[in-house]
Amino acid sequence: MGAAPQLKLKPERERSLLRRHPWVFSGAVEEVAGSPQSGGTVQVRAADGRFLAWAAYSPASQIRARVWSFDEAEVPGPALFEKRIEIALARRRAEIAAETTNAMRLVHGESDGLPGLIADRYGDALVVQLLSAGCENWRDALVGILRDRSGCARVYERSDTDARELEGLAARSGWIAGAAADGPLKIFEHGVEYEVDLASGQKTGFYLDQRDNRLRVRHLAAGREVLDCFCYTGGFSLSALVGGARSVLSIDASAPALAQAKRNLGLNPIAAGRAEWLEADVFQALRELRREGRQFDFIVLDPPKFAPTSKDAARAARGYKDINLNALKLLRPGGLLATFSCSGGVSPDLFQKIVAGAAADAGASLLLRERYRSAPDHPVRVEFPEGEYLKGLLLERS
Ligand code: SAH
Repeated sequence: MGAAPQLKLKPERERSLLRRHPWVFSGAVEEVAGSPQSGGTVQVRAADGRFLAWAAYSPASQIRARVWSFDEAEVPGPALFEKRIEIALARRRAEIAAETTNAMRLVHGESDGLPGLIADRYGDALVVQLLSAGCENWRDALVGILRDRSGCARVYERSDTDARELEGLAARSGWIAGAAADGPLKIFEHGVEYEVDLASGQKTGFYLDQRDNRLRVRHLAAGREVLDCFCYTGGFSLSALVGGARSVLSIDASAPALAQAKRNLGLNPIAAGRAEWLEADVFQALRELRREGRQFDFIVLDPPKFAPTSKDAARAARGYKDINLNALKLLRPGGLLATFSCSGGVSPDLFQKIVAGAAADAGASLLLRERYRSAPDHPVRVEFPEGEYLKGLLLERS
């Protein structure tokens, strides 16, 4: 591959690649030699000419290239993708027992050595997201290998995120292989059943990353009056009910999500009388609940991403502070707060500081009981800290 196009970096700009961080930003590129196509393979070389990595070229993106391999002998192509996908699948098999769930993330992008590729399994259906020019370029090979190796009969594409737009790629979604089954798609997770809408649900249909944190909430919920804010299709709500919560009030702004949550409740042997659902904006609803004098002994806050990157961290911090402060005002002494952030731009350390600030303003003293992260099918690599986007704290009000 001596003829492969090359990205030559500016002096001193090879450092992050030497630490095996897989992104080459446009500002680090001195020169593009040859005429790489969008998503085509380039060699990344340091200013002194030494080989750094094989990467996929993204001409429209600030992330100008994404690394496939740091090994000069490992030329990108189906054989390399097959190897990476095999390793990713083996890791899931080792970490998640088949009786735990039939829904999991099989490939988590950069953290599995496949930048821009997401593959989630829901029963016999696979949902793929091709979020980089490189994945788009190798679409047929990647989808073929994933289908083969996962054994999934049906494949649905959900390449409809903002990340695609940043790569200059049009949104695309629909069945690539097989077709929708007759009834709704059902999954189970830690013994609880849910329906998943692959075509119009959020993300690829379900927030798989919270699986084990939902189980934890279930184990802590017995006898408590629970408030689940940003409940989506009822993940934490149903977990708390199964765990013996006295009552659960669940809030979300999305009517379709709430409708699905209620159907999910009906799939499980849970008495519906303990569940109350509210379609509302959480920021306003928390204030309204306070005016009504409502109190809870367990509150879950699992908001959407307020800060995709650290540029938005200040605005996001105000959002997190607001909901945590107003939730704490509803929490009885001895009550628990499970609070999450899935913003890549807010570090675990910053998140804890924001929550501490909210506690100070609420006049609440909080014991830090547990820390949460994403489930093991969303692995984190130390060389790619961006992969550690989800963090959570379990706090007890004294
Ligand atoms: N806890 C859920 C996932 C939450 S995702 C689970 O375990 O499955 C975040 C949710 O917040 C989405 O359902 C979205 O509809 C909702 N949402 C976003 N902004 C909101 C707002 N301002 N008020 C209420 N809900 C909101």
